[in-house]
Amino acid sequence: MKVLSINAGSSSLKFQMYEMPEEEVLISGRFERIGLDKAFYTIKYNGDKIQKEAELKNHGVCVEILINELLENKVIESLDEIKAVGHRIVHGGDKYSESVVIDKDVIKTIEDLSSLAPLHNPANLMGVKAFMKKIPNAVQVACFDTAFHQTMKEDRYLYAVPYDWYKKDGVRKYGFHGMSHRYVSERLSELVDKDYSNVIVCHIGNGGSISLVRDGKCVDTSMGFTPNAGIIMGSRCGDIDYSIIPYIAKKRGLSLEEIDTILNKESGMLGTSEISSDFRDIDEEIAKKNKQAIMAHYLFVNSIVNYIARYYVELNGRIDAIAFTAGVGENAPHVRRMVIDRLSCLGFKIDREKNDAIRFGKEGLVSAVDSKIPVYVIPTDEEVMIARDTYRLSNCE
Ligand code: AMP
Repeated sequence: MKVLSINAGSSSLKFQMYEMPEEEVLISGRFERIGLDKAFYTIKYNGDKIQKEAELKNHGVCVEILINELLENKVIESLDEIKAVGHRIVHGGDKYSESVVIDKDVIKTIEDLSSLAPLHNPANLMGVKAFMKKIPNAVQVACFDTAFHQTMKEDRYLYAVPYDWYKKDGVRKYGFHGMSHRYVSERLSELVDKDYSNVIVCHIGNGGSISLVRDGKCVDTSMGFTPNAGIIMGSRCGDIDYSIIPYIAKKRGLSLEEIDTILNKESGMLGTSEISSDFRDIDEEIAKKNKQAIMAHYLFVNSIVNYIARYYVELNGRIDAIAFTAGVGENAPHVRRMVIDRLSCLGFKIDREKNDAIRFGKEGLVSAVDSKIPVYVIPTDEEVMIARDTYRLSNCE
């Protein structure tokens, strides 16, 4: 059965088509600069990658082009072959603890939740609506970034602010990157070969979050009400003292919106290093002994170590494994080494040779044989998670 996995943003749309249940990727690609000039799309098929310019007025046009490409490349003979489409939806609030088949009520709820994710939910819905129009007979499934974290208990997700803020306005921790944390924690349980396992998942990319997962359920996660909380990220500040906001607003005459943009887009590694949000650029500067790049790197490692150590202690050290994933976690062995070295007092030990060899999509163990806790690298795959949920739910229809 053919299933599409879709991740629609305001100006981009990424897709992968799977043959399920084999999980074979048949074709994948992305549309970029939707609604802007110089729009284009790329498609990977049969080992080839093509890029084409096109006028991408809106998401509907992208879906049109996508379907034509599927037909022209003979991935499908007719539209009826696409039985189900799974969509990544950023915010499911506390309404959804798992993926759901989309109907009118679900669309309305996702719209209502847009106040919590104004940049993401409306863009995700543009993708949903475009596919519903073009292939109305296919089952459409919503897969929420927040759903996996809904197992957190009140004493984890509440902030110490007036309770009324939570009750009336939904101010609480939600957590994000849920499809990735779920994928990696499931894979980690397979690797440690235990039905019931306690694991820590470090999703460290341009955005980053760390989760504590017990028996397949999220206990706690570092992102919060928004994705801006937790560890230091490419351009997001992570945890800071909130009082900085009124202080700097007054000092610099900045509006709340301006500060919000700075904390999201000009902070993190970019803000501290004054070089780049991309770790590859910072690494180049570290090689040249740039002091600010080195300092930013330490700050970043500290924030990761703090969360791992906190979760380790909270479970009395009963952790079966930890995993690194996403752009930095999968590809930057020196970051993994620095983090694990800093945790040596807890019995963590890296195997330098193995660690250096595992990157660019490889999965494997990077800890030493005498490490108290095994440390793995597991390349994340949010798309296949969407395809799995979509396949499962469309077969229940
Ligand atoms: P993601 O958000 O998971 O796609 O991760 C993207 C980030 O991963 C980039 O912004 C880089 O900072 C980082 N990254 C990707 N490749 C490498 C690499 N080879 N070495 C260091 N960092 C990398």
